[in-house]
Amino acid sequence: MKNYIYKFGGSETDGNASLRNLLGGKGANLAEMARMDFPVPAGFTITTEVCTFTNRYNGKYPDGLKKQLSESLAFVEKFMGKKFGDKKNPLLLSVRSGARTSMPGMMDTVLNLGLNDTTIHGLIECSGDARFAWDAYRRFVQMYAEVALDIKGDKKGVSPFEEIIGQKKKEKNIQYDTDFTTEDLKELVLLFKGVVKDSGKEFPETPEEQLWGSIHAVFESWMNERAIIYRQINSIPENWGTAVNVQSMVFGNFGEDSGTGVAFTRDPATGKNDFYGEYLFNAQGEDVVAGLRTPHPISELGKTAPLVYNELLDYRLQLEKRFKEMMDIEFTIEKGKLWMLQARVGKRTAAAAIKIAIDMVHEGLIDRETALLGIDPEQLNQVLRPVFDPDEKRKAVKEKRNITQGLNAGPGAATGIIALTAEKAVEFKKDGSDVILTRIETSPDDIGGLKVSEGVLTARGGMTSHAALVARQMGKVCVAGCESLHIDYENRTVSVEGGITLKEGDFISLDGTTGEVFAGKIKTFASDIHRILIDGELDEKESDLYPYFQELMSWSDEMKTLGVRANADLPEQAKAALAFGAEGIGLCRTEHMFFGDDKISTVRKMILASNTEVRKNALTKLLPLQRNDFIGLFREMNGRPIIIRLLDPPLHEFLPEKEEEVEALAKDIGISTTEIHQKITSLSEVNPMLGFRGCRLGIVHPDITKTQARAIFEAACLVSKEGIKVLPEIMIPLALSPEELRLQKEVIEEVAKDVFEKEKMQLSYKTGTMIELPRAALLAGEMAVEAEFFSFGTNDLTQTTLGISRDDAGDFLPEYLDKKIFSASPFKTIDRKGVGRLIEIATTEGKKTRKDMEIGICGEHGGDPDSVKFCNEIGLNYVSCSPYRLPIARLAAAQAAILHRKIVAAA
Ligand code: PEP
Ligand code: MG
Repeated sequence: MKNYIYKFGGSETDGNASLRNLLGGKGANLAEMARMDFPVPAGFTITTEVCTFTNRYNGKYPDGLKKQLSESLAFVEKFMGKKFGDKKNPLLLSVRSGARTSMPGMMDTVLNLGLNDTTIHGLIECSGDARFAWDAYRRFVQMYAEVALDIKGDKKGVSPFEEIIGQKKKEKNIQYDTDFTTEDLKELVLLFKGVVKDSGKEFPETPEEQLWGSIHAVFESWMNERAIIYRQINSIPENWGTAVNVQSMVFGNFGEDSGTGVAFTRDPATGKNDFYGEYLFNAQGEDVVAGLRTPHPISELGKTAPLVYNELLDYRLQLEKRFKEMMDIEFTIEKGKLWMLQARVGKRTAAAAIKIAIDMVHEGLIDRETALLGIDPEQLNQVLRPVFDPDEKRKAVKEKRNITQGLNAGPGAATGIIALTAEKAVEFKKDGSDVILTRIETSPDDIGGLKVSEGVLTARGGMTSHAALVARQMGKVCVAGCESLHIDYENRTVSVEGGITLKEGDFISLDGTTGEVFAGKIKTFASDIHRILIDGELDEKESDLYPYFQELMSWSDEMKTLGVRANADLPEQAKAALAFGAEGIGLCRTEHMFFGDDKISTVRKMILASNTEVRKNALTKLLPLQRNDFIGLFREMNGRPIIIRLLDPPLHEFLPEKEEEVEALAKDIGISTTEIHQKITSLSEVNPMLGFRGCRLGIVHPDITKTQARAIFEAACLVSKEGIKVLPEIMIPLALSPEELRLQKEVIEEVAKDVFEKEKMQLSYKTGTMIELPRAALLAGEMAVEAEFFSFGTNDLTQTTLGISRDDAGDFLPEYLDKKIFSASPFKTIDRKGVGRLIEIATTEGKKTRKDMEIGICGEHGGDPDSVKFCNEIGLNYVSCSPYRLPIARLAAAQAAILHRKIVAAA
């Protein structure tokens, strides 16, 4: 017969740590500890398969379970030398959930099970402490009634049991539960049983019935609302089910030679190799959690109970050796004897994760591959970006200052005063304030404001909207697409639907990692790594973390096979990119080079030009500006490859919005504002993302391509003459046909020839294209005849494959995630089935035409660990992402390579 129950306790233990899926994390590790000969109170685990069975068949259990349960119970009785339901020496049990991954507090637990009006006397006798016994009994009745009989109280959620306790305390004029006398507790048991009776239910007196009732309730709690929500948030499949652990109770509240505690095998905050934890004498686990008494640091146990402490130190070492992980443990001391109740992989901060992984390699506990695989790349944000002071953030949540939520578009924490325009942001900053630029949506005009702001908050836009993209590239915190925000530019206010109204100049705080928005100020801390590598304001010797971070990065680079490049448009971004390990630039968006007051008007003139002459004039002005930008970029990148994309301005992002801008432009061009407005109207598009964009511009106005190519080649020659190697790769955007590529290449080659002749030198360069449209992906074989390289623009490729606007997805995407239509935002993680399939087709077809073709990705997905893994799997050459995500991409690329090698080795 199939095994539905696995026993643990001494040498008869059935399970082990590898049976996590069947026994849940808790059950598997209890079995493993028992196998290691640790003092684990005996018990048994009912498998997750039973959970799936009973939830599917409405509370029925598989045949044979009952028999296996009585056999297991007999084993526990023998092991503990007690009997379930015995009136002299009763065995008491706990019944706890235990899923494959920990779901803290989401499911139910019953403690002290086995007490009734008979066994209570046995417990009094064995413990020699009537007060303790009655306290255990009243706790059990309450827990059983709430969990198994579902007596939870009125609609307001007030528990009838807590109400009785409150009344009793009032009556007796006492403050704490610990002040109750034995008689009080006895009375509480009676009163509690009365509540059960009044509810029309019955409190089972037989321990067997209590046990089945509790097992049933814990299995059912897998489907309770909070467990379902927790699973949704953490992507835990429903069919995993929970196991149920039935274990003998041990008591830490048996007097001054008893106690309870929790500990980590290393410091979970810093990662230091210190035994870290706390304990309380004469207490149960919940007393430590409740915080009524202040626990002692674990090291003090060395003085008060040295034998137990030394035993714990021994287990600490054994656990790390066995699990090859930093573990967290729960233990109880009952009358001087240590019992181990739980061991699981300890949660830790990112800084601790890095330090522990690297230290463990140096200690010979794990190898480098295991160390790299054990760190969540996304968690690195914590050590790269500013974070909130955790106490202040907790306080803000408690005060309900988290007023709304948007898309977590740019990680990190930022606090500052609200500025509703870029100009205001600059003004506030000049006055010495930190600023949060708060806009309905941002446009290139806002770049100056963005630059001086700590973060940006927008009411509209998605993960790849202008604000999000630019903010990430500049390393700014960003919460985008915050739909419930009403921004009133006229009255200078920001309000939340049905909630608070803030004025311009009021403090606001953003958590770009979670998307939360807070009213008021929350203190932030800058990261060491940022202060050393970017701000240059901290010496590396002053940081504990920095050497560990560097070691992690250098190991990642040794392991990875995928290249990492950065999306950077300006020399200062290139500098940040190099500091974070870029091997080149994967995307320089030339239109972004024109952001800012001094350049944007010339671009606007070019866009609004009504004839070739006016456009040529604007282009003549743009040429030296572009050339200078390229010179800066080539110098900064010092011989590394740079992909420069020809102009791709979605027109709506570049046209003037404000009247004063229109007036300035009119003056500049020498035409009336009416004409400007007419021109804007004639250029305005119903669907700008699919409008006059990408290489369409260069095809219709080859002069634009000519000017850009000239700026690139002239800059390349100049920098090359300085003795710096230059590797330009010119990229044609949003192409849909090989013919477009051929036409654009002709223009580029002609300019190259001209410049090289004039400069009397020859430079090698490449011309390639972005694959951003399904048609281009399907025609990749033909595109590759012209293109020497491909770069997947997955922002547009996602938009055009899914038919979902990247700017407007914020409106409905959360619903799509809730309803599990998408498991992750397709603008963040590559949609493997659709977009991924096209990428695979294009890569294969491209390489058929051009065997050694360089192929990479430059959409925002380039910095997403899952997408990096995908790029590695299909054999791309590199990923390109914003400078601040490079360390994440490097680690993710290393993990992908390690996993790939493991799969190959296993095959
Ligand atoms: C893309 O579409 O993925 C891309 C990188 O180009 P952009 O975001 O500038 O449209
Ligand atoms: Mg694009």
